[in-house]
Amino acid sequence: PARPVYSGELPKGLQTISNIIAVSSCKGGVGKSTVAVNLAYTLAGMGARVGIFDADVYGPSLPTMVSPENRLLEMNPEKRTIIPTEYMSVKLVSFGFAGQGRAIMRGPMVSGVINQLLTTTEWGELDYLVIDMPPGTGDIQLTLCQVVPLTAAVIVTTPQKLAFIDVAKGVRMFSKLKVPCVAVVENMCHFDAEGKRYYPFGKGSGAQVVQQFGIPHLFDLPIRPTLSASGDSGMPEVVADPVGDVSKTFQELGVCV
Ligand code: ADP
Repeated sequence: PARPVYSGELPKGLQTISNIIAVSSCKGGVGKSTVAVNLAYTLAGMGARVGIFDADVYGPSLPTMVSPENRLLEMNPEKRTIIPTEYMSVKLVSFGFAGQGRAIMRGPMVSGVINQLLTTTEWGELDYLVIDMPPGTGDIQLTLCQVVPLTAAVIVTTPQKLAFIDVAKGVRMFSKLKVPCVAVVENMCHFDAEGKRYYPFGKGSGAQVVQQFGIPHLFDLPIRPTLSASGDSGMPEVVADPVGDVSKTFQELGVCV
């Protein structure tokens, strides 16, 4: 795909990364972090060198979803760089590992802090950096997309009709920035009980998005208690159950990013 538009030179800290994948959603709570983390560990399981940048300043999920031994980022005082922490060979940076509580900041400040944290980290050679984007399509997201040369975006949504309008906004933002949206993940689309399949939020608007915007891939993720439990336990589901259905879905997603 064509390289996206971004302002200025490629930040030094990002020059050793081959692919930067944004995992984005237009609302909180739809499963964006769950997808970002499981995608990252799937890519790592396929043999890639992977990092996760949790750009969600207001509600960082990474410290809950993975459990690295070292829960604080270290500084290299000479180079004035940040050294990521690590869990199962995946490099991790999150505000939740910065030693402070949740941030109370205004938008422009948030953008500055996100960009600084992202670009002063010593990522080293990576095949993929997965960015867990802050939810929404406002200034913070836009600035981040302009600083970082994104290779592709994955949009996470839920099946409600209402979500369609938001997803469309997300797709438009990325398309304006010339970042290809390679997949939509429709999360919490159904659950199975007593041999029957239920669609609590209706049958998805995902298909409509894919058709209308020409996005090449649509993935369904069911509601699964184990997915939620793994998020709380610090071990991603694809690590806990590498041959399960969820792992298979993420392997397909991994191939298309
Ligand atoms: P977001 O990043 O969009 O705010 P999260 O990934 O943090 O959303 O997910 C919100 C909550 O929903 C978490 O507790 C997570 O474990 C749970 N969750 C996400 N997807 C599923 C799913 N398919 N089945 C069950 N629980 C899920």
